[in-house]
Amino acid sequence: MDLNYTPEDVAFRKQVRTWLEQNLPREVRNLEERRAWHRKLYDAGYLGMGWPKEYGGGGARPMEQAIVADEMAKANAPAPTNSLGIGIVGPTIVVHGTDAQKARYLRKILSAEELWCQLYSEPNAGSDLAALKTSAVDAGDHFVVNGQKIWTSGGAIADWGLLLARTDTKVPKHKGISCFLMNMRQPGVDVRPLKQITGSSEFCEVFMTNARVEKSDQIGKLGEGWAIAQTTLGYERGGRALARITTYSSQFNRLVEAARRLRRHGQPLLENPVVRQKLGRIWSEIEVERYQALRTLTQLERGEHPGAGGSITKLSYSEFEKRFMELALEILGPYGQLTKGAPQDFALDIDTAIGERGSWAYAYLWSRAGTIYAGSSEIQKNVIGERILGLPKETRADRVGGKA
Ligand SMILES: Cc1cc2nc3c(=O)[nH]c(=O)nc-3n(C[C@H](O)[C@H](O)[C@H](O)COP(=O)(O)OP(=O)(O)OC[C@H]3O[C@@H](n4cnc5c(N)ncnc54)[C@H](O)[C@@H]3O)c2cc1C
Repeated sequence: MDLNYTPEDVAFRKQVRTWLEQNLPREVRNLEERRAWHRKLYDAGYLGMGWPKEYGGGGARPMEQAIVADEMAKANAPAPTNSLGIGIVGPTIVVHGTDAQKARYLRKILSAEELWCQLYSEPNAGSDLAALKTSAVDAGDHFVVNGQKIWTSGGAIADWGLLLARTDTKVPKHKGISCFLMNMRQPGVDVRPLKQITGSSEFCEVFMTNARVEKSDQIGKLGEGWAIAQTTLGYERGGRALARITTYSSQFNRLVEAARRLRRHGQPLLENPVVRQKLGRIWSEIEVERYQALRTLTQLERGEHPGAGGSITKLSYSEFEKRFMELALEILGPYGQLTKGAPQDFALDIDTAIGERGSWAYAYLWSRAGTIYAGSSEIQKNVIGERILGLPKETRADRVGGKA
């Protein structure tokens, strides 16, 4: 693990910080303002940084991407939009798309002219994604799509979706899936926002009834959808490694400040030995996460891929975040419950992962999400058990509670 920044990295960080000081919007109130902020970041070269240059990206190193995200977290900068477009859809098109698809879609993803969502999960196909049932039937010059997707982040604002659908029911389930680009703005696509535990509606149900997908929008060959979904690696891999830790640190400092000001039995909470011990534990966990992030970045810089080790990182920070937020609410007591109007010193006042100006209650509720999306904690444990510890592979009987 390399703990030192090169002189170039230090200079780059300074340049990013100066740019943010001069360009940070005071507030981003709606989608159009977020799109404008996205566009500004892209024009400055701070978005799509890891994409190859020939497709409009910056060809930047993982460390440079991490520095930009980290400085944005420090500056409390609003999140850009189209994260799934830039993180998943674009890289899929770069690797598996035709020249025509690259020319048609890539620049508009980077500039957020067209917003994208990911249409993978279904009511009965989440962890077991290959069980998906949405069908795409060949109708000559196009496919006819029928079925339902769920938990579609950004579905309500998306212009296009990266779709996995079944094109063959007679072959083993992994082999009958194909990948498509689907226009979300058509009569056969009905998007219904879902109300989340946080009160917001970032994700949706998507119902497709005789929806149309052009043949020219098929990605890869028929039946290759599963392999495409598995092998596509994002280019923004340095991504949030450091930024996440910076956000934790700033939340932690606010929590300590709140514990200094809140009094119980006439004493500042910060003087209570149990509170101190619990805060100390969280602080040491943040430091562990910091070194884990630096280890990942070192691997990426050397051109190595963390592989199954990524499951350790994801399991570790997502479970930590839940413990952290639980402690925050325990310490803040009733103040932690406020979604609006918390005294300034106790307010979280940071952009959460999804870009809403947050409260502790909101961050606490949102922290549940990290242990579910992109592979739940149990799935990460399976990967660690099987691929790192070499334990026996899970069987179907294990999955259905020993009954199969
Ligand atoms: C905030 C958020 C955003 C999301 N955005 C998107 C999106 O944009 N597009 C999209 O397609 N999907 C999205 N998802 C869906 C996400 O990918 C799924 O929720 C996830 O794959 C889990 O699937 P599931 O919800 O069907 O749960 P299930 O797979 O039904 O799991 C239920 C429980 O069983 C456990 N479990 C399942 N299988 C096993 C096993 N083999 N061994 C041990 N335990 C097991 C799980 O860990 C979990 O606790 C999002 C989810 C969240 C929370």
